Amino acid sequence: MHLAIRGVSKTYTNGVRALRSVSLDIPRGMYGLLGPNGAGKSTLMRTIATLQEPDLGSITLGDPTSQPGQAIDVIREKDRVRRTLGYLPQEFGVYPSVSAERLLDHFAVLEGFVDRGERRRVVEALLRQTNLWDVRRERLGGYSGGMRQRFGIAVALLGGPSLIIVDEPTAGLDPAERVRFLNLLSEIGEQAVVILSTHIVDDVAELCSRMAIIDKGEILLEAEPLAAVVALRGRVWRRVVAKAELPDVERRHRVICTKLQAGRTLVHVYAESSPGPEFDQTEPDLEDVYFSVMAGHQGARAEAAAIGAAS
Ligand code: ADP
Repeated sequence: MHLAIRGVSKTYTNGVRALRSVSLDIPRGMYGLLGPNGAGKSTLMRTIATLQEPDLGSITLGDPTSQPGQAIDVIREKDRVRRTLGYLPQEFGVYPSVSAERLLDHFAVLEGFVDRGERRRVVEALLRQTNLWDVRRERLGGYSGGMRQRFGIAVALLGGPSLIIVDEPTAGLDPAERVRFLNLLSEIGEQAVVILSTHIVDDVAELCSRMAIIDKGEILLEAEPLAAVVALRGRVWRRVVAKAELPDVERRHRVICTKLQAGRTLVHVYAESSPGPEFDQTEPDLEDVYFSVMAGHQGARAEAAAIGAAS
């Protein structure tokens, strides 16, 4: 399975250009779409999930070797997409007084599992996979955020989708729930195309074999996270500064990011060679890649893209 997005653009009626000629190749496995709020992630996710149409562009789901007619034209053949799609939107409602087991059984009927025995087996397998078996009889209204998200995944997995879209799934989860949820996603990624949209860099760093960075509707980088980090080696320098010094450092250097550390400010800057004796070279991480690319530091994007493309 492979999703090919070509030249997708969308301008809302209020004039916001949410997507600007977005092209991406998304293979099987976990794919991270990383960008700040308002970048256009949900617009792209909803478009792939057939909930809205772009103004321009095409989206095709199929094997790279598919014959014409076998691959699905996502924009024109919405029913075909929906049969193979699992979508976990940013917000979804549940019936608070119903148990997970009953609601999942209900969705399984809608999905076409008419045979009771088979339906029971499918529902049990999904509740076990999403670690909800022990709480299957509790009301959904009493579920924590993480449990609700896992229930959403169980619903999305009914019918064995080959394309799964999860939009900002970890926002609001506590650290243990987040890890559990991400592990569940990575298991699923072994069999399907899974697109994870997020503004949390660590979600992508821990999980995704490929990723794209999007901002203001534009793809700034498409790469393998590890390769993008390696490409930045030797160009990230760190220094701890007092707060009062920060504006001067920002004026004189290409600052990637600043972090508070025990009351002082740790600054990472981008430079081809040592920016000064007060700086130490430091091993970059995906956060450095993300903020360098977002800040448009010359070189960071081109290097990461070149390595991403070569691998
Ligand atoms: P993200 O998911 O990355 O936060 P969105 O796709 O939700 O980004 O939004 C991208 C831009 O489009 C934002 O500026 C947002 O305000 C705007 N937008 C999103 N949905 C609509 C809509 N239905 N009508 C008008 N503008 C919208």
